[in-house]
Amino acid sequence: MRVITSLSEWKRIREQLSGEIGFVPTMGCLHAGHKALVEKSVNENAATVVSIYVNPTQFNNPDDLVSYPKTEKEDCALLELLGVDYVLMPSSEEMYPEANTIAYHADHPMATCLEGTHRPGHFDGMLTVVMKWLCLVRPSVIYMGDKDYQQHVLVQSMIRAYHIPTRLGVLPTQREESGLPLSSRLKRLSALELEKARFFAMRFHALKSRDDFVGFKKVLEEKGINLEYLEMKDHHLFVAVYIESVRLIDHRVWKV
Ligand code: AMP
Repeated sequence: MRVITSLSEWKRIREQLSGEIGFVPTMGCLHAGHKALVEKSVNENAATVVSIYVNPTQFNNPDDLVSYPKTEKEDCALLELLGVDYVLMPSSEEMYPEANTIAYHADHPMATCLEGTHRPGHFDGMLTVVMKWLCLVRPSVIYMGDKDYQQHVLVQSMIRAYHIPTRLGVLPTQREESGLPLSSRLKRLSALELEKARFFAMRFHALKSRDDFVGFKKVLEEKGINLEYLEMKDHHLFVAVYIESVRLIDHRVWKV
């Protein structure tokens, strides 16, 4: 496995590569959710490229960016075990040679609701960096998690809108037994906060009908969990909460 921090070096390597290339973009602090994406890519492609890059333009909250957990050494050890060929870890100077003056913007219905409403600029930053990665890696397949539902819907739309010759592979959300989706941000929770996060997940996945919503909101409040939204859209029920300063999202199929 080669860890590459220079994009000019990567561009030289990419010129020599042929065959199916699988690509998994990540922000690092890898867990079993990322692992499932990487394993799928390694199984399905001649070469797998993983990026570890905390993209500043998709963070609407500067504190969240500063406190985003970093475990680069452990991440690279895991990726090597999984059979990854290339890990790309560029600087922001190289990723944004024109600063953020040339950026993608989505007016898509999935960009302007839920996360789009509560995290202004998040999807523009995400699409901008994904487009950079698609140009740099030119993968046959890009693998993403269903955990970030709006993200993969928007990436699929961007691929379609720009006629990009890359397929999107979406994998199911990997969860703890409690139902809590694995997330790098869980690393920032204390034991007590993690217990609250699990409580939230169990209650969220126990919801049966709209009649349960009032009770759900009430128990969260009693536990000191701050509900940002609980909304039905696209045959799914979406939720975002704050456990102290850590923001967690989830969604599930919801038939009404
Ligand atoms: P991140 O490092 O959080 O930017 O995530 C990188 C990729 O991993 C994205 O496509 C996420 O949707 C995916 N991912 C993150 N958490 C999970 C999870 N619990 N299950 C499946 N995929 C995930």
